[in-house]
Amino acid sequence: MNRKITARVSAAVLFILLGVVAYTQNPGAPPELKITKVRESLYVIEGDGGNVAVYVTGNGVILVDDKFERDHDAIMGIMQRLTAQPLKYVLNTHHHADHSGGNARMYDSGAQIISTVNSRKNILERRQSNAPPNVLPARIVFTEETSVFLGGKEVRAHHYGRGHTNGDAIIYFPLLKVIHAGDLMSGATPLIDYNAGGSVIEWTKTLDTAMQALDFDTVIPGHGPITNRAGLQNYRDNIAKIRESVTEQIHQGKTQGDIAKFMEIEHKWAPTSLQQQLSVPGFMNELK
Ligand SMILES: [Zn+2]
Repeated sequence: MNRKITARVSAAVLFILLGVVAYTQNPGAPPELKITKVRESLYVIEGDGGNVAVYVTGNGVILVDDKFERDHDAIMGIMQRLTAQPLKYVLNTHHHADHSGGNARMYDSGAQIISTVNSRKNILERRQSNAPPNVLPARIVFTEETSVFLGGKEVRAHHYGRGHTNGDAIIYFPLLKVIHAGDLMSGATPLIDYNAGGSVIEWTKTLDTAMQALDFDTVIPGHGPITNRAGLQNYRDNIAKIRESVTEQIHQGKTQGDIAKFMEIEHKWAPTSLQQQLSVPGFMNELK
């Protein structure tokens, strides 16, 4: 019996090793995506990049975000398993390539793409320095609000102000009382992209306005598991807490290095993280 187990373990190890070899030989292979049903006719695709919402109507499909370009085939495959309806619109929550990176392929698939005017500008001005060169911006833009009406359903896109960037859209499904928050809610703590007009002072105001204006109970964050209004409120309160303690420390004369260390220890911002690279220098300027 022992020998049998050993043999099985060896086979398992071999399998894993082969898997590793296969992976390293094909490093561009996108990770698997996972689909979750949020409501009747609304789904979220998680994994590799931002959460994609899939809204099926009787006259076509509306997506919110499209991850990286390499995820295109997997997203389309999932969509086609859910419905025979064609893709009609993609709403971008913001310009980052893990949310809008698939735009070029989405145009090829016949979609119209909509974003805030600032998200379009941020792509054209290459505000994300490490974005692939071929990310295409939306052709249809809005400043404060727009709606798509399709198959008797409405999807509304709002820009309530700055936060993660200067072009964040919150996407609202009024019939379902669901929002897609983009990266205005993402991970445990915020990434303020100061290169693209983000603001830790405006962020909480933007969320307060949204929570006051919209009747919703379910939140699809930009990254991470689906949550509810209380989850978004907690996230907002945590941003205020971080802002207040960093402001206090800057006023006490703490240096950028001190703030970086504080964020690393208290909020797990790894030294190489985007948060350390983008948000800490921005704090020193915005919160002084
Ligand atoms: Zn982002």
